[in-house]
Amino acid sequence: MLSDLRIKQPEPVVFDPGKTRVIVLTWPDNALTAHATQWLWRHWKGHSTNVICWCQKGFYDVVRCAAVDQFCLKAPKHIEQFVFMDRDMWPEPASDPVLTAPGDIVGCFYETGNPKAWASPTVIHLGLARVSRVVLETLAEERDEQNRPKPMFFFPRDVTNTKLGMCECAYFAQRAIAAGFLITRSGWCGHK
Ligand SMILES: [Zn+2]
Repeated sequence: MLSDLRIKQPEPVVFDPGKTRVIVLTWPDNALTAHATQWLWRHWKGHSTNVICWCQKGFYDVVRCAAVDQFCLKAPKHIEQFVFMDRDMWPEPASDPVLTAPGDIVGCFYETGNPKAWASPTVIHLGLARVSRVVLETLAEERDEQNRPKPMFFFPRDVTNTKLGMCECAYFAQRAIAAGFLITRSGWCGHK
């Protein structure tokens, strides 16, 4: 029966600042845009322990992997969702859907300077994105052929160590899709 083939629609998430930890990467100056400060205040007021600003120098993929290790995989068990934001984002009310949209990973749209950045319907970028804890815990368990943990984020490089077109977020998204998770995009955020 055709009616039996209906795809189950994913449910929106109820945003709870007590169960959602936001991690802002703030290198080099540990400063946020005024928009970001307001947005964090508006959503996490009274839950400042769930707002982490991390001023860590390094390649994006390495820093993002380290942030997941420190602030997500070791987070108290009641934390169910993680929001990742970069220091140069300008979130506003139009960005709010990233907090509640259905999906295991939800990317908020923003200008990246690359006209093809959002071309694939399954790509998100970590300038502003929400990730369910189960995604990170599941991917952290996966091993490569030599039984080593796979990186969560990774810039694919060629033999000359030159970065290939795919960014570290696309690698993350591909791993999540392969593990059966749902990736969606919702909301819009400014970015300078
Ligand atoms: Zn990206």
